Formats: sequence, structure tokens, C-alpha cells
Amino acid sequence: MNIREKILVVEDEQSIAHFISTVLTSNGYEAMQASSGTEALSMISSHCPDLIILDLGLPDMDGLEILRQLRSWTSLPVVVVSARSHEKDKVDALDLGADDYLTKPFGTDELLARVRTAIRHTRTASGNDEIAQKGTYTVGDLTIDYNKHQALVRGQNVKLTLSEFRIVALLGKHAGKVLTYDYIIKELWGPRASGDNQILRVNMANIRRKIEKNPAEPEYLFTEVGVGYRLAEGE
Ligand code: CA
Repeated sequence: MNIREKILVVEDEQSIAHFISTVLTSNGYEAMQASSGTEALSMISSHCPDLIILDLGLPDMDGLEILRQLRSWTSLPVVVVSARSHEKDKVDALDLGADDYLTKPFGTDELLARVRTAIRHTRTASGNDEIAQKGTYTVGDLTIDYNKHQALVRGQNVKLTLSEFRIVALLGKHAGKVLTYDYIIKELWGPRASGDNQILRVNMANIRRKIEKNPAEPEYLFTEVGVGYRLAEGE
């Protein structure tokens, strides 16, 4: 049986709501729409959607406030939509428990990729099935071996340092999702680590040099400007 995931699109701009809903329904999802925060909250409790696409700029409520309320009782995946250049909003949304974000204007491929990833990550308790089953994560020519603590490119060990490996391993567990600088730093160096991104940036540059063909145009490790990093997700 084919289960169609129900997606609630919370967006007050009709043209964008229409675009998102059309893309979703033509790709096998069921789409519902809410154009205000109040309507969204009531639809969430009455329709139990599988995922929410939440615009942060709503007429009656701040999208972040909706997210805060939601996270007090549900871990239902939420992809927020925000205007370009509002990095702070994106970081705040991720810190409040959003699964990912889309920056306006976004295209069909990006929308579908975010939706697929957010749904996939909630289905698998471990976050990543492949790692749970095989102890490895592979995307393109890159393989992360969680048992041997190695990253391989076309089968060759690229000899990461321990910190570099831990960063790649963390991103691999959440492949396809953006992780904020703050989240990565705290996961790696503990909750009291300084929020300074410098060490992370240096490590990232080294990792890129070792795994990317052209570090200036990465195929695997993407920078989300002002927010964090994302590792490519395999099909
Ligand atoms: Ca809006």
C-alpha cells in the first residue's frame, strides 16, 4: 500500500502556498494549507500532519512562536521558510527544534530534497539507517566508516585527524540536514565549549582539502552561510 504523507503548508502568501502545494501533490504527497498561525495550530491538532512547512512571517503570529509551542508537545518534523539574509531567524528556528529551512525564493528540487530528508530522518530512530545497518555512510565517492573511524574517497583512506573525523561522522549521521555551528561545536567539544567558530572553520577547510576534488566548489560538504554545514545525502 502506498502511504501518502500529509504535509501542512503554513504560508500567508497565496502564490507561494500554491506553488508549494502543487509541487507536493504532483510528487505524491497530500498537501493542506493554513494561512495564519491560529489556523495552523488548530489544523495540526485536528489533522496530525506528517510534516509542516512553516513560513516564519505570518500575519498573526511569529513562526518561531508556533515552533516553540509545537516543540512543547510534538517532535513532528518542521521545515521553516524564511526570507533571504535572515540568518539569525534560521539559526533560532534550528535551535528551537526546526528540522531544516528553505530560503525564499527556492525551487522545486530544493523543496523536495528538504521534505524527503526531514521525513526520512523521523522514520529512522537512529537518524541514518545505513549507518545502523552497515556501520558506513556512502555518498558519491565518499564513504565514512564508523567502525574504523576513517573517511575514504574512492576507497582510499584520506587520513583525517580525530576532530576532523568526528565532524564528518556527525554530519554523516544527519546527512542532508543542516547542522548549526553551535550544535556541531557543542556535540564535539561539550556544552561549555566557546561559541567561536574559528576552530571549526579551520577543521572544515582541512576536511575539504582532503575529501573534495575542488574545495572551492564542494560536492560533499556544503556551507550554509551564517548558519552551519550540511553533508550531501545519497539517493
Ligand atoms: Ca509570509
